[in-house]
Amino acid sequence: MRRAVLRTALLILATLPAFVPQGASAQAQGEAIAVTAQRLIDGTGRRIDGGSVVVEGNRITSVGTLPPGFRGRRIDLGDATIMPGLIDVHVHVTWYFNAQGRYHTSSDGETPVQGMLAAAGNAYETLLSGVTTAQSLGSPEDRDLRDAIARGSVPGPRILTSLGSISGGEPEQIRQRVRDFKSRGADVIKVFASRSIRDGGGPTMTVAQLEAACGEAHAQGLRALVHAHATEAMSLAVEAGCDQVEHGVFATPAILSRMAAKGTYLSPQCGLVFRNYLENRAKYEGIGNYNAEGFASMERALPLAVEAVRKAVTTPGLKVVFGTDAVAGAHGRNVEDLICRVTEAGQKPMDAILSATSVAAQSIGMGETIGTLKPGMLADIIAVRGDPLVDFAAMRRVVFVMRDGRTYRNSP
Ligand SMILES: [Zn+2]
Repeated sequence: MRRAVLRTALLILATLPAFVPQGASAQAQGEAIAVTAQRLIDGTGRRIDGGSVVVEGNRITSVGTLPPGFRGRRIDLGDATIMPGLIDVHVHVTWYFNAQGRYHTSSDGETPVQGMLAAAGNAYETLLSGVTTAQSLGSPEDRDLRDAIARGSVPGPRILTSLGSISGGEPEQIRQRVRDFKSRGADVIKVFASRSIRDGGGPTMTVAQLEAACGEAHAQGLRALVHAHATEAMSLAVEAGCDQVEHGVFATPAILSRMAAKGTYLSPQCGLVFRNYLENRAKYEGIGNYNAEGFASMERALPLAVEAVRKAVTTPGLKVVFGTDAVAGAHGRNVEDLICRVTEAGQKPMDAILSATSVAAQSIGMGETIGTLKPGMLADIIAVRGDPLVDFAAMRRVVFVMRDGRTYRNSP
């Protein structure tokens, strides 16, 4: 019943003119497109002056100097920087504020259609802000949204989803839950192994439970991402062979070095998620652990989070990815967390861009298809006005967004 209503909502959405993307699909036109600008960052650490990217269908066919005799359509962005579409490996695309302006919960009387319209709106905002791939960790509704975006009926970033999460149980039950997620179409497994930062961040799962979750995920061909704030919980996840730690606000240099040695990815947040909660306090307060104590712990987390990112980005060999934990109020502002990393935690601008492009692509198992600009890759391309290597706030000034060869934003 609920799914049928959601499908109807998506059909309605697909007919709304406001949701029809600007421009046209290169594929539909069958014509090559050259996007040119004063500079290009290719996602491997290389910067090219006067760069161009040629797209045919949904693939990149040339990067660098425009091939002599190019005869297709040209989009010249002038004083802008072309780069790969950003990849946010931790969002909650279905979280939204309801008609009363409050954080939506399952008991607030909102209909599934309202929920799906809000989620589609969040996806569109996220895409327009330059994020062309988002990993949602995750809700059951993500699946229909993911599939509608993949079909091209709704504009949004390419979505990967965990569809939900695992937070305990006997090891055999945990293994069964992983298989259930896989059979429902999950792209990744999300595991809660520590309390929330509002509740101290201590461990909530044993190494045996984590081995069951992450081991079974691997047996099913999936990755396993573990929510952990305190070092003890992070350590259990790393030793259990899980792929990535989310958050890690209380990480010590020792656990970060251990993660680097084991090749475990870290997805830390610099500030957007906490600031977003504090800015929208009235919309969240009084729901669950969003109480006075919870908000006080988020205020205290602000300097800790910046410090954790500073430690992470200076740990040799540690693979740090871009994951904002974007919730209601933060969709479309994802890049603020990257700006926080550079302006407050001291990450080098190029490293921040790599973190949100090629490193993030590798973390989701898509390093051979997205995250860098080179021939053969999917055409996920954005551009920002100005030069982010000189003024990183340029990342806010997105003027061009193409995903999978289709242009969704061209506003130089
Ligand atoms: Zn989250």
